Amino acid sequence: MLVAGCNAAPTNRPAATHVSTNSTMNFPFQLTEAEWRQRLTPEQYSILREANTERAFTGKYWNTKEPGVYRCAACGAVLFTSKDKFDSGCGWPSFSDLAAKGTVVERADNSHGMRRTEVLCAHCGSHLGHVFDDGPAPTGLRYCINSAAIDFGGETNTPANVKK
Ligand SMILES: [Zn+2]
Repeated sequence: MLVAGCNAAPTNRPAATHVSTNSTMNFPFQLTEAEWRQRLTPEQYSILREANTERAFTGKYWNTKEPGVYRCAACGAVLFTSKDKFDSGCGWPSFSDLAAKGTVVERADNSHGMRRTEVLCAHCGSHLGHVFDDGPAPTGLRYCINSAAIDFGGETNTPANVKK
């Protein structure tokens, strides 16, 4: 099997014009640009609200293996769990599935001369990363997510019935 980096994205998805985050969809959680800037660090703002990408192996979660849940750093919605996190070797936190159906929405992203599928928080529309179809079974998906776009909640956010 061909091992593709996070920027290599063979997909057959239809072409679409790149649009900036939040310009074409309505999300339940909305803030003004000034409020976002106040709420987020400059790095978080640049990724979550301007769809930038942190450099590989620089984020705080790419190698995290503790049990817990990962929330959207912008609005707090639970997006992923440690159960689906796997070591993709690409330098960003990678998940093979969502914490629950519909926690993210997808959108075609043809920026930077690549055809990729952008992943947005379904609650607030913030940019999280991209999803590729070279992940492990059974989903075959690899959600490649910026560390700065998520907040890891260990013990406090882990349900009591999850073994620590
Ligand atoms: Zn969110």
